[in-house]
Amino acid sequence: MPDKVLAIHGGTPVAEEPLPEIYGGASEIGEEEIAAVTAALRTKKLFRFLDPEHSRCAELERLFGEMTGCPHALAVGGGTAALISGLVGIGISDGDEVIVPGYTYIASASAVLICGAVPVIAEIDDSLTIDPADVEKKITQRTRAIMPVHMRGYPCNMDAIMDIARRHNLLVIEDVAQACGGSYKGKRLGSIGNVGCFSLQHYKIITAGEGGMMVTHTREVYERAAIRHDSAMCFWKPGESNVRPFPGENFRLNEMEGALGCVQYGRLESILSRGRAICNRLRTELADVPGIQLHQSNDPAGDCGICFAFFVESSDRTQPFAAALRAEGIPAGCLYDKGIPDRHVYPYWEYVMEKASWDRHGRPWTSPLHDPERRYTPDMCPKTLDILGRTVMLTISQALEKRHVDWIIQAIRKVAENL
Ligand SMILES: *Cc1c(COP(=O)(O)O)cnc(C)c1O
Repeated sequence: MPDKVLAIHGGTPVAEEPLPEIYGGASEIGEEEIAAVTAALRTKKLFRFLDPEHSRCAELERLFGEMTGCPHALAVGGGTAALISGLVGIGISDGDEVIVPGYTYIASASAVLICGAVPVIAEIDDSLTIDPADVEKKITQRTRAIMPVHMRGYPCNMDAIMDIARRHNLLVIEDVAQACGGSYKGKRLGSIGNVGCFSLQHYKIITAGEGGMMVTHTREVYERAAIRHDSAMCFWKPGESNVRPFPGENFRLNEMEGALGCVQYGRLESILSRGRAICNRLRTELADVPGIQLHQSNDPAGDCGICFAFFVESSDRTQPFAAALRAEGIPAGCLYDKGIPDRHVYPYWEYVMEKASWDRHGRPWTSPLHDPERRYTPDMCPKTLDILGRTVMLTISQALEKRHVDWIIQAIRKVAENL
């Protein structure tokens, strides 16, 4: 008979030992990665365009192209760089508005501003991704693009978003930083919109240390992005582009990162399939727990299996629920805590809220092409804050074994029934 007294009230914790702290590709770095990076170093050719035939960066591009079915892939130095390249690729600039969700990493909004456009913040729905109904409400004459963000490995409602984009003649840039390898109705995330942008930063599903990837079906989008990613692109691939060169910067990936990324790519399907099996079991066995509502995915089969989320009835129950789970030995967190400035939640995007800028004239905010009346307030997306405020989330380790998952199930039931 399991102990009914919650560990937080002095009972015996459900978990008999700490759960493994193994999350994503970074935790699995091993001899293969060490060998691949060492081999890259031994070539003494770290610049990706020095020996194009043997470039590991080029190989990583080929792998992402193959995964997504996109004929064009561009390796870059980070997810933010991928977003900037992608936005420039599809032609976003001064005067444009890009609709972003109120729940995403601040870099999504920052990339829009760097391109001279401004982010317009839309609500999320209980898929924890952008709410298509609110996207439609946020469209103005200046709207050029929608940026669905597949947060925490959860696919956005891409059918609804692509339908809105078609009807309003908008472009779609997918932020896949947190959902590498995920899919929506059988299509890989990143391949559905006009452009898809991945991150290979340390905390993502697979990593190159730092790094990112942009994929697209459109040659011109790729060419514009490639020009932006390297100020001398026309020298490395002379004559290849039909696009007239314009100023770029340096978003290049190097060969050590490329080599690391290729080995990590080889781990992707295994990480996803282990996480998905765990999440499927949690979903099935916790479907009937009173007082909590499980997160509903837009495509459970396409989820990355890196998180398990559920909602409690009121926001004053969220923190106690998560704390009680932690006391049972189950690492659980909340998505919105008024005391903790989390850069994934729009009220904590200070430079957006305050319309701050690097530019002494205040651009892009002050550009005459932008709406001078646009305001940002912490309460502008109340539905988003309500949903996040009621979410309890467990980050799922791909290394959980059956007994660990048993404990998670027992602990969630125990807390739901006894708190
Ligand atoms: C991590 C992340 C980014 C930025 O990626 P970097 O590689 O850190 O530049 C962008 N969007 C989302 C949703 C992210 O999680």
